[in-house]
Amino acid sequence: HAKAAGRGCAHRFSPALDQQARRRATIERCLRTALATGEGLEVHYQPVVDGSGAFVRSMEALVRWTQPELGALAPAEFVPIAEETGLIVPLGEWVLERAARMMAQWPGIPIAVNVSPIQIRTAGIVERVFEIVDSVGLPRDQLHIEITETAIFDGGDGAAEKLRRLRAAGVKIVLDDFGTGYSSLSHLQRLEVDRVKIDQSFVGGLGAGGDSRRIVEAVLCIGRTLGIAVTAEGVESETQRCILRDSGCTEFQGYFFSEPLPEAAMRAYLSQARVSARAA
Ligand code: C2E
Ligand code: MG
Ligand code: MG
Ligand code: MG
Repeated sequence: HAKAAGRGCAHRFSPALDQQARRRATIERCLRTALATGEGLEVHYQPVVDGSGAFVRSMEALVRWTQPELGALAPAEFVPIAEETGLIVPLGEWVLERAARMMAQWPGIPIAVNVSPIQIRTAGIVERVFEIVDSVGLPRDQLHIEITETAIFDGGDGAAEKLRRLRAAGVKIVLDDFGTGYSSLSHLQRLEVDRVKIDQSFVGGLGAGGDSRRIVEAVLCIGRTLGIAVTAEGVESETQRCILRDSGCTEFQGYFFSEPLPEAAMRAYLSQARVSARAA
Protein backbone atom coordinates (compact mmCIF):
# COMPACT_ATOMS: atom_id res chain seq x y z
CA HIS A 1 0.00 0.00 0.00
CA ALA A 2 1.47 3.31 -1.04
CA LYS A 3 0.43 5.10 2.13
CA ALA A 4 2.00 2.46 4.37
CA ALA A 5 5.19 2.36 2.29
CA GLY A 6 5.58 6.12 2.58
CA ARG A 7 5.10 6.17 6.34
CA GLY A 8 8.84 6.13 7.05
CA CYS A 9 9.31 9.57 5.61
CA ALA A 10 5.87 10.92 6.40
CA HIS A 11 7.38 13.72 8.50
CA ARG A 12 8.89 15.24 5.37
CA PHE A 13 5.44 15.79 3.94
CA SER A 14 3.52 16.66 7.09
CA PRO A 15 1.22 19.62 6.50
CA ALA A 16 2.55 21.41 9.60
CA LEU A 17 6.16 21.26 8.42
CA ASP A 18 5.15 22.23 4.92
CA GLN A 19 3.33 25.24 6.30
CA GLN A 20 6.33 26.16 8.41
CA ALA A 21 8.66 25.90 5.43
CA ARG A 22 6.34 28.07 3.38
CA ARG A 23 6.19 30.72 6.09
CA ARG A 24 9.98 30.77 6.29
CA ALA A 25 10.22 31.19 2.52
CA THR A 26 7.65 34.00 2.63
CA ILE A 27 9.51 35.75 5.43
CA GLU A 28 12.80 35.47 3.54
CA ARG A 29 11.27 36.87 0.36
CA CYS A 30 9.50 39.72 2.15
CA LEU A 31 12.58 40.58 4.20
CA ARG A 32 14.61 40.89 0.99
CA THR A 33 12.03 43.35 -0.32
CA ALA A 34 11.93 45.27 2.96
CA LEU A 35 15.72 45.59 2.94
CA ALA A 36 15.69 46.85 -0.63
CA THR A 37 13.14 49.56 0.13
CA GLY A 38 13.51 50.08 3.89
CA GLU A 39 9.74 49.78 4.07
CA GLY A 40 8.29 48.44 7.31
CA LEU A 41 11.65 48.37 9.08
CA GLU A 42 12.20 50.43 12.20
CA VAL A 43 14.53 50.70 15.12
CA HIS A 44 13.12 50.99 18.63
CA TYR A 45 15.18 52.18 21.57
CA GLN A 46 15.06 50.91 25.14
CA PRO A 47 16.67 53.01 27.88
CA VAL A 48 19.08 51.51 30.39
CA VAL A 49 18.77 53.48 33.63
CA ASP A 50 20.35 53.73 37.07
CA GLY A 51 18.73 52.28 40.22
CA SER A 52 16.53 55.30 40.78
CA GLY A 53 15.31 55.22 37.21
CA ALA A 54 16.03 58.94 36.99
CA PHE A 55 19.29 58.79 35.04
CA VAL A 56 19.72 57.26 31.61
CA ARG A 57 22.92 55.27 31.14
CA SER A 58 22.55 54.06 27.57
CA MET A 59 20.05 52.96 24.93
CA GLU A 60 19.66 49.59 23.22
CA ALA A 61 18.63 49.50 19.56
CA LEU A 62 16.08 46.78 18.76
CA VAL A 63 14.92 46.06 15.23
CA ARG A 64 11.19 46.10 14.43
CA TRP A 65 9.55 44.88 11.26
CA THR A 66 5.96 45.19 10.12
CA GLN A 67 5.07 43.59 6.82
CA PRO A 68 1.77 44.64 5.16
CA GLU A 69 0.46 41.07 4.81
CA LEU A 70 2.23 39.31 7.66
CA GLY A 71 1.76 42.08 10.20
CA ALA A 72 4.26 42.82 12.96
CA LEU A 73 6.88 40.09 13.21
CA ALA A 74 8.88 39.31 16.34
CA PRO A 75 12.68 39.51 16.07
CA ALA A 76 12.68 36.05 17.68
CA GLU A 77 11.04 34.81 14.46
CA PHE A 78 12.75 36.77 11.70
CA VAL A 79 16.28 37.31 13.10
CA PRO A 80 17.07 33.55 13.00
CA ILE A 81 15.79 33.39 9.41
CA ALA A 82 17.89 36.43 8.54
CA GLU A 83 20.88 34.65 10.07
CA GLU A 84 20.34 31.45 8.11
CA THR A 85 19.94 33.31 4.81
CA GLY A 86 22.74 35.81 5.34
CA LEU A 87 20.23 38.68 5.28
CA ILE A 88 21.37 39.54 8.82
CA VAL A 89 24.42 41.24 7.27
CA PRO A 90 22.49 43.97 5.40
CA LEU A 91 19.84 44.04 8.16
CA GLY A 92 22.46 44.49 10.87
CA GLU A 93 24.16 47.25 8.89
CA TRP A 94 20.84 48.99 8.38
CA VAL A 95 20.11 48.93 12.12
CA LEU A 96 23.63 50.10 12.98
CA GLU A 97 23.50 52.99 10.54
CA ARG A 98 20.05 54.07 11.61
CA ALA A 99 20.76 53.86 15.34
CA ALA A 100 24.19 55.47 15.05
CA ARG A 101 22.80 58.37 13.02
CA MET A 102 20.08 58.91 15.61
CA MET A 103 22.30 58.70 18.66
CA ALA A 104 25.00 60.92 17.15
CA GLN A 105 22.53 63.67 18.10
CA TRP A 106 22.76 62.71 21.79
CA PRO A 107 26.43 63.02 22.73
CA GLY A 108 27.45 61.07 25.80
CA ILE A 109 24.67 58.50 25.64
CA PRO A 110 26.03 55.17 24.45
CA ILE A 111 24.01 53.21 21.90
CA ALA A 112 24.10 49.42 22.17
CA VAL A 113 23.54 47.48 18.94
CA ASN A 114 23.03 43.71 18.76
CA VAL A 115 25.49 42.04 16.41
CA SER A 116 24.97 38.46 15.22
CA PRO A 117 27.74 35.83 15.11
CA ILE A 118 27.13 35.68 11.36
CA GLN A 119 28.09 39.34 11.09
CA ILE A 120 31.19 38.77 13.21
CA ARG A 121 32.20 35.99 10.82
CA THR A 122 31.92 38.31 7.80
CA ALA A 123 35.23 39.48 6.38
CA GLY A 124 35.78 43.19 6.83
CA ILE A 125 33.20 43.54 9.61
CA VAL A 126 35.46 45.72 11.77
CA GLU A 127 36.12 48.14 8.92
CA ARG A 128 32.39 48.20 8.04
CA VAL A 129 31.48 49.15 11.61
CA PHE A 130 34.04 51.97 11.64
CA GLU A 131 32.92 53.13 8.18
CA ILE A 132 29.26 53.30 9.23
CA VAL A 133 29.70 55.05 12.56
CA ASP A 134 32.29 57.46 11.15
CA SER A 135 30.04 58.34 8.21
CA VAL A 136 27.16 59.40 10.47
CA GLY A 137 29.41 61.13 12.98
CA LEU A 138 28.97 58.82 15.95
CA PRO A 139 32.12 58.79 18.09
CA ARG A 140 33.42 55.20 18.16
CA ASP A 141 33.43 55.18 21.95
CA GLN A 142 29.69 55.94 21.99
CA LEU A 143 29.02 52.55 20.38
CA HIS A 144 28.41 49.39 22.38
CA ILE A 145 28.21 46.09 20.56
CA GLU A 146 26.09 43.35 22.12
CA ILE A 147 27.14 39.82 21.35
CA THR A 148 26.09 36.54 22.87
CA GLU A 149 28.47 33.93 24.17
CA THR A 150 27.69 31.91 21.04
CA ALA A 151 29.25 34.65 18.91
CA ILE A 152 32.61 33.80 20.36
CA PHE A 153 32.31 30.22 19.09
CA ASP A 154 30.28 30.81 15.93
CA GLY A 155 32.01 34.00 14.94
CA GLY A 156 34.82 32.17 13.19
CA ASP A 157 38.53 31.89 13.95
CA GLY A 158 39.20 35.58 13.97
CA ALA A 159 36.26 36.50 16.23
CA ALA A 160 38.26 37.29 19.35
CA GLU A 161 40.77 39.32 17.36
CA LYS A 162 37.99 41.29 15.63
CA LEU A 163 36.39 42.12 18.96
CA ARG A 164 39.78 43.20 20.27
CA ARG A 165 40.25 45.57 17.32
CA LEU A 166 36.82 47.10 17.88
CA ARG A 167 37.63 47.51 21.52
CA ALA A 168 41.00 49.08 20.81
CA ALA A 169 39.12 51.79 18.89
CA GLY A 170 36.96 52.55 21.92
CA VAL A 171 33.92 50.42 21.04
CA LYS A 172 32.57 48.65 24.17
CA ILE A 173 31.83 44.94 24.02
CA VAL A 174 28.76 43.74 25.90
CA LEU A 175 28.06 40.07 26.57
CA ASP A 176 24.28 39.70 26.15
CA ASP A 177 22.02 37.09 27.77
CA PHE A 178 24.80 36.22 30.20
CA GLY A 179 24.37 32.87 31.90
CA THR A 180 22.45 31.14 29.12
CA GLY A 181 25.27 30.27 26.73
CA TYR A 182 28.53 28.43 27.10
CA SER A 183 29.31 30.64 30.08
CA SER A 184 32.92 30.36 30.91
CA LEU A 185 34.49 32.81 33.27
CA SER A 186 37.71 32.79 31.30
CA HIS A 187 35.87 34.44 28.39
CA LEU A 188 35.31 37.48 30.51
CA GLN A 189 39.03 37.85 31.03
CA ARG A 190 40.39 36.60 27.73
CA LEU A 191 37.90 38.44 25.58
CA GLU A 192 38.11 41.54 27.63
CA VAL A 193 34.44 42.38 27.63
CA ASP A 194 33.38 45.67 29.15
CA ARG A 195 29.94 44.70 30.36
CA VAL A 196 27.65 41.72 30.85
CA LYS A 197 23.87 41.67 30.73
CA ILE A 198 22.29 39.26 33.17
CA ASP A 199 19.76 37.29 31.17
CA GLN A 200 16.14 38.18 31.80
CA SER A 201 15.32 34.59 32.78
CA PHE A 202 17.30 35.10 36.02
CA VAL A 203 15.83 38.55 36.64
CA GLY A 204 12.35 37.15 36.01
CA GLY A 205 12.92 34.56 38.72
CA LEU A 206 13.75 37.14 41.40
CA GLY A 207 11.33 37.21 44.31
CA ALA A 208 9.87 33.87 43.26
CA GLY A 209 12.17 31.80 45.45
CA GLY A 210 14.59 29.40 43.78
CA ASP A 211 18.19 30.06 42.81
CA SER A 212 17.79 33.19 40.67
CA ARG A 213 18.78 35.55 43.45
CA ARG A 214 21.98 33.69 44.26
CA ILE A 215 22.91 33.52 40.56
CA VAL A 216 22.29 37.23 40.11
CA GLU A 217 24.39 38.00 43.21
CA ALA A 218 27.18 35.81 41.91
CA VAL A 219 27.23 37.59 38.53
CA LEU A 220 27.31 40.99 40.25
CA CYS A 221 30.17 39.77 42.42
CA ILE A 222 32.14 38.53 39.39
CA GLY A 223 31.56 41.90 37.74
CA ARG A 224 32.89 43.79 40.75
CA THR A 225 35.88 41.48 41.04
CA LEU A 226 36.88 41.69 37.37
CA GLY A 227 35.91 45.34 36.93
CA ILE A 228 33.17 44.52 34.42
CA ALA A 229 29.92 46.52 34.45
CA VAL A 230 26.72 44.49 34.93
CA THR A 231 23.30 45.35 33.51
CA ALA A 232 20.12 43.57 34.59
CA GLU A 233 17.68 43.13 31.70
CA GLY A 234 14.00 42.27 31.75
CA VAL A 235 13.28 44.15 35.01
CA GLU A 236 9.49 44.15 35.23
CA SER A 237 8.64 44.87 38.87
CA GLU A 238 9.47 46.97 41.90
CA THR A 239 10.36 43.76 43.79
CA GLN A 240 12.94 42.84 41.17
CA ARG A 241 14.34 46.36 41.14
CA CYS A 242 14.74 46.34 44.95
CA ILE A 243 16.41 42.94 45.08
CA LEU A 244 18.79 43.95 42.32
CA ARG A 245 19.61 47.28 43.94
CA ASP A 246 20.22 45.62 47.31
CA SER A 247 22.57 43.22 45.56
CA GLY A 248 24.61 46.13 44.21
CA CYS A 249 23.25 46.33 40.67
CA THR A 250 23.56 49.82 39.17
CA GLU A 251 22.21 49.40 35.62
CA PHE A 252 18.64 48.41 34.84
CA GLN A 253 16.66 47.72 31.68
CA GLY A 254 13.10 46.49 31.44
CA TYR A 255 9.43 47.26 31.09
CA PHE A 256 9.32 48.49 34.71
CA PHE A 257 11.32 51.54 33.58
CA SER A 258 10.42 51.76 29.90
CA GLU A 259 9.46 49.60 26.96
CA PRO A 260 11.49 49.91 23.77
CA LEU A 261 10.38 53.22 22.23
CA PRO A 262 9.83 54.29 18.63
CA GLU A 263 12.16 57.02 17.38
CA ALA A 264 9.93 59.98 18.18
CA ALA A 265 9.17 58.72 21.70
CA MET A 266 12.88 58.05 22.24
CA ARG A 267 13.65 61.68 21.36
CA ALA A 268 10.97 62.89 23.75
CA TYR A 269 12.30 60.59 26.46
CA LEU A 270 15.88 61.78 26.00
CA SER A 271 14.97 65.45 25.93
CA GLN A 272 13.48 64.98 29.44
CA ALA A 273 16.07 62.54 30.75
CA ARG A 274 19.09 63.25 32.85
CA VAL A 275 22.31 61.56 31.86
CA SER A 276 24.25 59.80 34.58
CA ALA A 277 27.72 61.21 35.09
CA ARG A 278 28.82 57.67 35.73
CA ALA A 279 27.56 56.42 32.39
CA ALA A 280 30.32 54.68 30.49
P1 C2E B 1 18.08 40.99 23.46
O1 C2E B 1 19.19 41.67 22.76
O2 C2E B 1 18.41 40.24 24.69
O3 C2E B 1 17.02 42.15 23.73
C1 C2E B 1 16.18 42.22 24.84
C2 C2E B 1 14.78 41.75 24.51
O4 C2E B 1 13.98 41.77 25.70
C3 C2E B 1 14.04 42.62 23.52
O5 C2E B 1 13.17 41.78 22.78
C4 C2E B 1 13.24 43.55 24.42
O6 C2E B 1 12.12 44.12 23.79
C5 C2E B 1 12.84 42.58 25.50
N1 C2E B 1 12.54 43.21 26.79
C6 C2E B 1 12.96 44.39 27.28
N2 C2E B 1 12.51 44.61 28.54
C7 C2E B 1 11.77 43.52 28.85
C8 C2E B 1 11.00 43.15 30.03
O7 C2E B 1 10.95 43.85 31.03
N3 C2E B 1 10.38 41.94 29.97
C9 C2E B 1 10.45 41.13 28.87
N4 C2E B 1 9.79 39.96 28.92
N5 C2E B 1 11.14 41.45 27.76
C10 C2E B 1 11.79 42.62 27.75
P2 C2E B 1 13.01 41.91 21.20
O8 C2E B 1 13.11 43.33 20.77
O9 C2E B 1 11.83 41.12 20.80
O10 C2E B 1 14.33 41.20 20.66
C11 C2E B 1 14.58 39.84 20.91
C12 C2E B 1 15.98 39.47 20.52
O11 C2E B 1 16.14 39.61 19.11
C13 C2E B 1 17.06 40.36 21.14
O12 C2E B 1 17.33 39.96 22.47
C14 C2E B 1 18.20 40.12 20.18
O13 C2E B 1 18.84 38.90 20.48
C15 C2E B 1 17.47 39.99 18.85
N6 C2E B 1 17.51 41.29 18.15
C16 C2E B 1 16.71 42.37 18.27
N7 C2E B 1 17.11 43.36 17.45
C17 C2E B 1 18.22 42.91 16.80
C18 C2E B 1 19.12 43.47 15.83
O14 C2E B 1 19.01 44.64 15.39
N8 C2E B 1 20.14 42.65 15.39
C19 C2E B 1 20.33 41.38 15.88
N9 C2E B 1 21.35 40.66 15.41
N10 C2E B 1 19.52 40.84 16.80
C20 C2E B 1 18.47 41.59 17.27
MG1 MG C 1 20.71 42.83 23.37
MG1 MG D 1 19.54 40.05 26.21
MG1 MG E 1 17.91 37.78 24.26
